[in-house]
Amino acid sequence: MAAVQRLLRAAAPGGSATAAAAAAARRRMTSLAPSAAAGFPFAAEERVRRRPMAERNVQWVFLGCPGVGKGTYASRLSRLLGVPHIATGDLVRDELASTGPLAAQLAEIVNQGKLVSDEIIFNLLSKRLKKGEDQGESGFILDGFPRTVKQAEILDGVTDIDMVVNLKLREDVLLEKCLGRRICGQCGKNFNLACIDVKGENGLPAIYMEPLLPPNNCMSKLITRADDTEEVVRNRLRIYNDMSQPVEGFYREQGKLLEFDLPGGIPESWPKLLQVLNLEDQEELKLAAA
Ligand code: ADP
Repeated sequence: MAAVQRLLRAAAPGGSATAAAAAAARRRMTSLAPSAAAGFPFAAEERVRRRPMAERNVQWVFLGCPGVGKGTYASRLSRLLGVPHIATGDLVRDELASTGPLAAQLAEIVNQGKLVSDEIIFNLLSKRLKKGEDQGESGFILDGFPRTVKQAEILDGVTDIDMVVNLKLREDVLLEKCLGRRICGQCGKNFNLACIDVKGENGLPAIYMEPLLPPNNCMSKLITRADDTEEVVRNRLRIYNDMSQPVEGFYREQGKLLEFDLPGGIPESWPKLLQVLNLEDQEELKLAAA
């Protein structure tokens, strides 16, 4: 993990990260023989360098439009698998909420629904990975990253992604879901006030999703994300289609993309997702142990 976090940072000097930087990072990673690694500034990379899947925790990516529920399913899976759920949107919001020098600059970008520069994202992600590594974390489920092909190339240059889950939902539902999102300002939990009940038409399936209502003690503390207004959500969906959809193709070509059409809300979707991921037994074991 140290390798990943340092190299991500190294790969994005001044926001000029390129595929060439990724290739250089990859060369650096793969050319390190154990003896040569000793004393090398990146010596710690030896420990984590492209370890076989059997020797480490999963390294997964969750893709999907704003509002699709990446955070919900990625965080459930992270608890099930015992790996950290790392959402770059959360890292950006933490920075926004701080009094750090980046906050004002970020607010302007995020509140328009635009993407933050690679340099900022790589720095935030590096810091988060470093903190996790210090606490003994291994593996990850990334959510909201990579969001451009350039980010995917750089990530590919520094570590192996085992699988990419692409969550899908019709666009009219995505908008409603984003507009219904609320966060409890005190406990930080996410809720959704929207009750989705749309008919199947024009080849699109009918879909029903119950609202995810907060308990009484959160009700008076609910806040709406500043970027969850209709205008900004539409802009984010547009940007997703332009910048992030090509990332699906990138991973499809590598044979790593698992497409998952959400059949409904959490009660219908979660068991199906576990089924396609072959994780039903894992959940049963965990429930039995609880
Ligand atoms: P969404 O609900 O649109 O999936 P996120 O919570 O993932 O939103 O991200 C919120 C905002 O943070 C994005 O609109 C963008 O400004 C910024 N952001 C998050 N991840 C990235 C990334 N990988 N690259 C650039 N900007 C990002």
